[in-house]
Amino acid sequence: ERIISTEADIQDVTFEQSLRPQNLNQYIGQNKVKENLKVFIEAAKMRQETLDHVLLYGPPGLGKTTLATIIANEMGVNIRTTAGPAIERPGDLAAILTSLEPGDVLFVDEIHRLPRTIEEVLYPAMEDFCIDIVIGKGPTARSVRLDLPPFTLVGATTRAGSISAPLRDRFGVLARLEYYSEEQLTDIVIRTADILETKIDPHAANEIARRSRGTPRIANRLLRRVRDFAQVRSNGDIELKLATYALELLQIDRLGLDHIDHKLLKGIIERFRGGPVGLETIAASIGEESQTIEDVYEPYLLQIGYLQRTPRGRVVTEAVYRHFHMEVPTE
Ligand code: ATP
Repeated sequence: ERIISTEADIQDVTFEQSLRPQNLNQYIGQNKVKENLKVFIEAAKMRQETLDHVLLYGPPGLGKTTLATIIANEMGVNIRTTAGPAIERPGDLAAILTSLEPGDVLFVDEIHRLPRTIEEVLYPAMEDFCIDIVIGKGPTARSVRLDLPPFTLVGATTRAGSISAPLRDRFGVLARLEYYSEEQLTDIVIRTADILETKIDPHAANEIARRSRGTPRIANRLLRRVRDFAQVRSNGDIELKLATYALELLQIDRLGLDHIDHKLLKGIIERFRGGPVGLETIAASIGEESQTIEDVYEPYLLQIGYLQRTPRGRVVTEAVYRHFHMEVPTE
């Protein structure tokens, strides 16, 4: 398990629960999304209507679940949470929808993984707040229309491109979450330390933020591990020196890269002269699945401009040579 994985691990689940901001003012960053949502929420409340359906998209760990909870809090309604793969049959969805209170938020994580048959049940539910369910089988089967309480669907996905056009079109609000800046992550680390009642030097918070790959989930996880070092090796306070020492022991470098990133980048430099080299060839040479490289390892390296995709394969950029203090090749 990589400490810089963007997926939540078992330890993260309860920890994150206690750290979740409860309202928009506590939610750091994502200013454009926040400003828009503020207006839409206020307008819906003034008209005493439910909020339009909202689609949140962006990489894992940037705060989609948190934002869904905040939307419900700000609207003063309950939230029901489920995930695309958890809804297998139309009856599962019908059971959830008919149990909602008027105005509730239904949060569907990984909405791109909803089976197509379920999506079709969702269309009239989103549009007209009703569903058609089939009762019985064979020649005696008949369709019955059920009215639903009005509700707000908040969908979350890491892959906006995998959502079918008819589903996407039924969301009134599309909100794209961006990677966080170092300053914003520093604020998040300071906020979390405050909740954990841990004293932290702002420079130490910044050092953790810098290595968190633009992702609050990673920032909070690194903080938790650094706090352990502070407790065992020091007086519990997180000073810059201690944070740097701990992060080095955790083998997270100053840009948030770990040994797997190093293996990947150095592999391309040493075996393929920096590329271009095809994904499959890289995968075989470092003993990883190409899908894992594409979904898990590459996105951050592409994001910081360390790796480029070209028609002829992957290429490392000059910045990588400088990062490893290697001589930049002159063609
Ligand atoms: P995934 O979809 O992969 O589960 P997510 O995008 O839903 O991830 P969250 O679970 O909402 O991410 O957030 C991860 C952690 O980061 C939470 O503990 C949350 O407290 C914290 N966090 C996320 N965004 C913010 C923010 N803007 N301000 C403060 N803390 C945040």
